Amino acid sequence: MSIAICPGSFDPITLGHLNIIRRTSRIFDRVIVCVMYNSNKTSPMFSVEERIDMVQRAVYKYPNVTVDSSAGLLAEYAKQFPGAVVVKGLRAASDFEYEFQMNLINKKINPEMETMFLTSSGKYTFLSSSVVREMARYDADLKGLVPDEIIEDIREKAKQWRSS
Ligand code: ADP
Repeated sequence: MSIAICPGSFDPITLGHLNIIRRTSRIFDRVIVCVMYNSNKTSPMFSVEERIDMVQRAVYKYPNVTVDSSAGLLAEYAKQFPGAVVVKGLRAASDFEYEFQMNLINKKINPEMETMFLTSSGKYTFLSSSVVREMARYDADLKGLVPDEIIEDIREKAKQWRSS
């Protein structure tokens, strides 16, 4: 059985992430979306539990996709699934440089781990979780940027932010 791991911070999950997950689910038998919370991204908008819950609601329609989380390094996490391939999305040249560097580090920790990249679909090239957080801060319309199932969660969180 072919297994793919789609890692990310998903703070929150966007339609750009979902596009990569959906396309990966057509290529591999099983996809594990792994919410990583070891990253040096300080002060996330959502707790890891909230992020997992939102990813779960966004991927419910894909029967071969499951959600997991890890506080450790991706290269260590992947060791539990021998032969699994890490699949990431590539938006622009800046993503490429970062990913190339990460791949070299990951190879040192886990030489068995292979990473594949899917190029971002044109309409999501400029979409990132930070763009969504910024738009939410100003109460902008999030339709077409994030899955419909989680729009209310983001609006609610942004409201709490504004009033705190
Ligand atoms: P972000 O960069 O939005 O904070 P993550 O750190 O959660 O997102 O990224 C997880 C993965 O999803 C990375 O491989 C990243 O390149 C990919 N990704 C994020 N947004 C998009 C997008 N709009 N199109 C394609 N891939 C994306």
